[in-house]
Amino acid sequence: MKVGVLKGNGIGPEIVAAMQKVVDACELGIEWVNVPIADEAVALYGTEVPEESIELLRELKVAIKGPISVEKMAGRLTYTRKDGTSQIYCSNNNAIRQELDCFACPRPARGIPGISGKNENVNLVVIREISEGIYAALEHRIGKDEASEAIKLITKKGAERICRYAFEYALSNGRKKVTCAHKANAISLTDGLFLETFRRVAKEYPQIESEDLMVDATAYYLVTNPERFDVIVTMNQYGDILSDLCAGLVGSLGLGAGANIGEACAVFEACHGSAPDIAGKNLANPTSLILSAVMMLRHVGMGQWADLIEDSVREVLIERKHITRDVGGKATTDEYTNEVIRKIREKMGK
Ligand code: NAD
Repeated sequence: MKVGVLKGNGIGPEIVAAMQKVVDACELGIEWVNVPIADEAVALYGTEVPEESIELLRELKVAIKGPISVEKMAGRLTYTRKDGTSQIYCSNNNAIRQELDCFACPRPARGIPGISGKNENVNLVVIREISEGIYAALEHRIGKDEASEAIKLITKKGAERICRYAFEYALSNGRKKVTCAHKANAISLTDGLFLETFRRVAKEYPQIESEDLMVDATAYYLVTNPERFDVIVTMNQYGDILSDLCAGLVGSLGLGAGANIGEACAVFEACHGSAPDIAGKNLANPTSLILSAVMMLRHVGMGQWADLIEDSVREVLIERKHITRDVGGKATTDEYTNEVIRKIREKMGK
């Protein structure tokens, strides 16, 4: 099977290499196809997200990506197609998601005994909508410097497909409840449309419990009683923020896996950024991307191997002997990765 691999920058290349070593240890015959993006793409094509890479991703259908840095206040990216048309996106990451029509971003957070403290029993997933909302790059300045305005775009179609995805996810993953996080009291038309759609879709899934909460109250309950949550479905920006919060709840952003899912393509990636503060130091925790690969293997029907890798990762973390600095250990990225591989090989009887 061919899988696209986008190295990204910052800690991207380090955690991508670690993830590849772990997956390769399972001897699944995966052929990694390099897809140039960010710095590598600039050197080759003069742009961070070239159409050549997007076309390759469409062809491959499944890929895994390291994080990419986005410059503050200059993140907007103009994506130019060969046919001369172009589109402005709010960031390079957003350009990839939008061009591939990825709309769902599931981000699981599962506690780990000995690492997650009082949150070791947390087991939830934030499902973030990633095709619209406030990250639709619909913003402009008014006057010279007087004001700026951003449009929050919520469509019935977009709300419906993410809410349905959340209930289908709940059904196929043995989850019992879906919570919709919104702010429909203050933003009554946009968040109101999302909530109204959620309630309508929920009626089609009577076997799954449903509820809605204000996003601020959701943040409060996540900190005070996270075990009350199972699946949380929410709009783009709320999901971005809540999923980092959830990674923090169980111990570190370095544990946060995720994916960008569309009808035709899926790009798996950690929920965190490029962590420039620790880049190139062999300090990054690659668990986030290894667990993103676990999600990828489940997506392509290799659930047995996904379980084997996830069990190995969890065992190494629970033992605490070879864990990285962000979760209270002293191991380097390489030492931790090698220990995960040792566990995998042991389970394979090698
Ligand atoms: P960040 O997520 O990169 O880092 C926040 C903190 O978490 C830092 O202290 C970092 O060291 C730590 N951290 C993150 N991942 C870790 C890991 N795997 N192991 C150990 N520690 C880890 O957030 P930031 O610093 O705000 O963003 C850095 C850059 O990443 C920015 O340019 C931002 O725009 C970009 N970004 C990219 C993506 C993406 O590619 N999808 C997502 C978010 C942010």
